[in-house]
Amino acid sequence: MKCSICDSVAVAEFPSLCKSHFIEYVEKKVFETIEKYEMFPSNIPLVATSGGKDSLTTLYLVKKYFGKAKALLIDEGILGYREKTIEDLKYFCKTFDIKYDIVSFSKEFGQTLDTALSVLGEKPCSVCGVFRRNLLNKFSLGYGSIYLGHNLDDEAQAVIMNYLTNRLDLLSRLGPVTGITTDSLFSKRYKPLYFVTEKEVMLYTVLMGFRVGFIECPYANESFRAQVRTNLNLIESKKRGTKRKIIDSFLKILLELKQKVSAPAGYCKSCGDPSPNELCSKCLILERLNKKN
Ligand code: SF4
Ligand code: ZN
Repeated sequence: MKCSICDSVAVAEFPSLCKSHFIEYVEKKVFETIEKYEMFPSNIPLVATSGGKDSLTTLYLVKKYFGKAKALLIDEGILGYREKTIEDLKYFCKTFDIKYDIVSFSKEFGQTLDTALSVLGEKPCSVCGVFRRNLLNKFSLGYGSIYLGHNLDDEAQAVIMNYLTNRLDLLSRLGPVTGITTDSLFSKRYKPLYFVTEKEVMLYTVLMGFRVGFIECPYANESFRAQVRTNLNLIESKKRGTKRKIIDSFLKILLELKQKVSAPAGYCKSCGDPSPNELCSKCLILERLNKKN
């Protein structure tokens, strides 16, 4: 198969492109997303980086576009997994001369995710997600915004998950640019890979020669997301373009959805973070942890 632009051998099928045109295609898509959705930093661009393919690609491309970037890694404390991706992040940052900060659950919340789960016996991703979001927000406030490595597959899964659970409030918080921009206690979240599929990121990473372990969190298969991902992949394999259509139709209603679903009005009485309830989700989990410890 030949590249649809030049005569070289194609490395990708849809669209059929050779190595250099595929790299150009991904980068163009990401840079156009940055421009279209005005994903501009007010400070040095801060990129949430796990050490995996999506976040390292985001880090690389944000640095390429703006000429500078810094990485922020959250160490949840997942034995046998996170320490490996931390090594990949360190290697990447050394290779591309990027500074990074690492913040951990154990320092910020007094325990690792592994320990918290053994005490709480809850679904890993619910606890992890609440703590991660809290730290990403806390440590990016001084930057005004943070770049995330969410790709098109991640977003399509999140859209479907929120439909299936009737969580219009959470659905309204998705999109290429998120975060409550009217509250100074929230930083904006940018997703430059919004229109790049998981497969495209994977191929880009390989073609660029990034050293990435491609390992998955040991808790990932227990999640509702994993079930949605498997089913969406199955539908996509039979009907190509399904994930993109989910995103396109979601974007058509997003503005209206945001107007209908209002942002949390109050603040957590314990930590002062914005929250619709008396206690925010993070403080509720910490309270339960303290009772059980
Ligand atoms: Fe956390 Fe779940 Fe992601 Fe693992 S898969 S890092 S537990 S959110
Ligand atoms: Zn709180």
